[in-house]
Amino acid sequence: MRPAAERLYRVVKAKYEQNRNAREKLIKTDAREIIYDTSGNHDNLLGRCRCKACRDKEYKNLYGKALMCVRSEFQEQDGKT
Ligand SMILES: [Zn+2]
Repeated sequence: MRPAAERLYRVVKAKYEQNRNAREKLIKTDAREIIYDTSGNHDNLLGRCRCKACRDKEYKNLYGKALMCVRSEFQEQDGKT
């Protein structure tokens, strides 16, 4: 993982560890792809903006990817207990 992605991952993980409800909801998305919707903010680095101008642009979805990493870690933790 690149440093920026690593930092983001840690922030997301800390946030979800503190919120049991959010953690459960995240786990229940199973293996579905998470695309962080930034429509209106035109942020195609953290997520994906679906406005007309951005629709065909490349998007990185770093926040969505961080969420999916955290999710698989939580799912693994739960599977072991
Ligand atoms: Zn946009």
